[in-house]
Amino acid sequence: MIDIKDILQNIKENNLYREIRYLSEPQDTHTTIDGKKVLLMSSNNYLGLCNNEEVKNAAIKALNKYGLGSGGSRLTTGSYDTHRELEEKIAKFKNKEAALIFNTGYMANVGVISSICDEGYYIFSDELNHASIIDGCRLSKGKIIVYKHNDMEDLYKKVNEINPKKGIVVTDSVFSMDGDIANIRRIAEIAKEKNLLTLVDDAHATGVIGNSGRGSSEFFDCDIDITIGTLSKAIGSEGGFVCASEEIIDYLKNKARSFIFSTALSPVVINGASKSFDIIEKNPELVKKLSSNIKYLCAGLKEIGFSIQSETPIIPIIIGDEELALKFSERLLEEGVYVPAIRFPTVKRGEARLRMTLMATHSQIDIDFALDKIKNIKYELGI
Ligand SMILES: *Cc1c(COP(=O)(O)O)cnc(C)c1O
Repeated sequence: MIDIKDILQNIKENNLYREIRYLSEPQDTHTTIDGKKVLLMSSNNYLGLCNNEEVKNAAIKALNKYGLGSGGSRLTTGSYDTHRELEEKIAKFKNKEAALIFNTGYMANVGVISSICDEGYYIFSDELNHASIIDGCRLSKGKIIVYKHNDMEDLYKKVNEINPKKGIVVTDSVFSMDGDIANIRRIAEIAKEKNLLTLVDDAHATGVIGNSGRGSSEFFDCDIDITIGTLSKAIGSEGGFVCASEEIIDYLKNKARSFIFSTALSPVVINGASKSFDIIEKNPELVKKLSSNIKYLCAGLKEIGFSIQSETPIIPIIIGDEELALKFSERLLEEGVYVPAIRFPTVKRGEARLRMTLMATHSQIDIDFALDKIKNIKYELGI
């Protein structure tokens, strides 16, 4: 039997112990965490849509019309007209033939990769891909080939060595812990040359990159076979989705186990998400405001000695040592700014970091406040 007590002790000794913090107010630029008012700089609610009045009203309308739960799986009694409408809207937003909603982005990756990659498939996967992609690969019958992070030479070399009959390249577009962007254009070229499928996870890209926030295919102006997304980050709701050809979507409805064997999302979150897409389409300045906030924070961090260049709202301040990163995060919380320390196994050992994220609704005053605290604590800890 595994010794749970020993393992927990070991996790604690290595500064890798995790505890849940509880919010008692909406996820917004300012919130209350464990009873303390803080400036929140770690939310994935990039456009502030979680607590948007129009979004909330759309959800309330759905609640009154449909009730709370969906009452069944998508293939039995849990699909409502609002699921279909949102799928059509997402497909249009992403410029793809069709879309399918899953209950989470995690379930989308797991269901899609495991159902598509059968025996004989080679899966080329970036070493920093999200855990849900990794789990999807592990659940599949395909052979997993990991390539160096965003290293197109390494990918090309590995593809050439194997020259697979059936293969797929899978990658995050915006990497969730580093905030950098995969070279999707080159991936699409390699895939075309070698006749491989492409799967790109736009979890942190939808509503964020590309001029109108449509994600990686808009950013790179290139076509990808399968795009995964989540409704729980910039869209401000809950759920995951897949965009692809009609044929692939049809296949997934019949084969993806995480789609088939789980109760459908509530129409309440579906209607809220649907309103978010409308807002993004009608207000391109939201995405632009997020991007000007990113520039402003990066410039400020550079001034205090953290040279970070990010094109996305994920801004990692690499500290390295786990204990020091924790200390930094704790001190920031004491000063009223919430930025968590991200440690192993989410990132490699010795690469602990403060993962800052921005929202379009942060003001320059908010960002200046955070910068001032970071500067003082950096000095105090001798970093
Ligand atoms: C957050 C995330 C997911 C999971 O999406 P959920 O809807 O939260 O389950 C998948 N992939 C990436 C890259 C993510 O960052």
